[in-house]
Amino acid sequence: MKRVAMHTLGCKLNYTETATLRAQFTGAGYEVVEFRDRSDIVLINTCSVTSKADAEARKLVRQSLRRSPGAYVIVVGCYAQLRPEEIASIDGVDLVLGAREKFHLMEYLDPSLKKTGPRIAVDDIDDITEFGPAAAADADERTRAFLKVQDGCDYSCSYCTIPMARGGSRSESIARTVEHARDILDQGFREIVLSGVNVGDYGSGTEHSLYDLLLALLELEGDFRVRISSIEPNLLTDDIIRLTAESERMCNHFHIPLQSGSDAVLRLMRRRYNTGRFRERIDALLAAVPDCGIGIDVIVGAPGESDARFEEAYRFLTDIPFEYLHVFTYSERPGTDALDIEEQVPPEQRTKRNRMLRSLSQKKRRAFYQSQLGRTLNVLFEKPDDHGMIGGFTDNYVRVEIPHQPGIDNSILPVRLDRIEKGVVHGTLMARPAADAPYIPLPVLATLPSASS
Ligand code: SF4
Repeated sequence: MKRVAMHTLGCKLNYTETATLRAQFTGAGYEVVEFRDRSDIVLINTCSVTSKADAEARKLVRQSLRRSPGAYVIVVGCYAQLRPEEIASIDGVDLVLGAREKFHLMEYLDPSLKKTGPRIAVDDIDDITEFGPAAAADADERTRAFLKVQDGCDYSCSYCTIPMARGGSRSESIARTVEHARDILDQGFREIVLSGVNVGDYGSGTEHSLYDLLLALLELEGDFRVRISSIEPNLLTDDIIRLTAESERMCNHFHIPLQSGSDAVLRLMRRRYNTGRFRERIDALLAAVPDCGIGIDVIVGAPGESDARFEEAYRFLTDIPFEYLHVFTYSERPGTDALDIEEQVPPEQRTKRNRMLRSLSQKKRRAFYQSQLGRTLNVLFEKPDDHGMIGGFTDNYVRVEIPHQPGIDNSILPVRLDRIEKGVVHGTLMARPAADAPYIPLPVLATLPSASS
């Protein structure tokens, strides 16, 4: 049996797409092995959001050929769509597939696996309108599954290559998404993370919206919860906020890209909101869902981010409530309009600003965790570690650990958050003697009731 080793770079969406490609290989009789193992075929699913991701892809090709010298090397993903010739010129690459072609991998794979020189199959991105399927990707061993519901983006942020690499916004239908979700729950997953490039834009160009999709998913049977991987602030509607407040199954957690806390920089980035609108959305969210965990994406060092504008952005972030930041350092991407903005930020300033925001993020996370101590929240437990502890996330995205007890793996159970040790919250498993009774601490039990019962 031929062996395939696969590696994914970049975002959750890439992981869901790698899962689809894995299913194609296994369906065609290949054995999928660990990336570190020797194999006959190597597939690398690339990203192109930062220049580091490009370099990483090159390094992976070289490494895999050292391990498996005769392997047939396939490169797919955003970097492949954007710079196919550049990839084909890397020594040892055999096949480069674009955003559409990767979903028809078996048609392009040379069955004899003989090297006939690199082959490139990459369509013009403007011609891509169909929704490439994606299987659920394990986030943590049958606990959380990423489900691709949307692809592409119609926005035109000045620093971003994603619309060039993935094309316009398109979505899976509600009926098919519900079918996929049912299948995911049947496989034993307890949390579905809706993924896409611009998930909030789900259904654009149709009569449906993300809110409609959420309503349909929340109707499914089972003990599960739904999380949205990320949503643009302008697409976080009052309907979605209300649904989150009302539904036990919607996670009280949103990851919202801000990118800059300076209005001038947001304008240069061509984002579709200003700081006032962002703050208004955060306030609306916290008014309806006071314990909501809020994660924020920020880019530091984007063109036009002068010292004064960064200070303004820093102050904005200091003032707003959130749980954590994902801080990205701007890097120049070929073909983007941001390259034409005159005021570029020196690399050492970018690094310094990144450090400052990471440190702010740590402080905010500590404060958020502290604010949750004493509360009893539902935790989705993953797998026990080697030290007899088991951890998981609350629905508002606090990482919690407790001593492992039999039968709690992959269950959603109430835990009282007790204390923080080395950045991790430790808690006590709780139970209710009756549905409306207060929670009481639960000593070790052999079988445990579900949180939703
Ligand atoms: S919203 Fe902006 S940053 Fe996000 S994918 Fe679309 S163009 Fe890129």
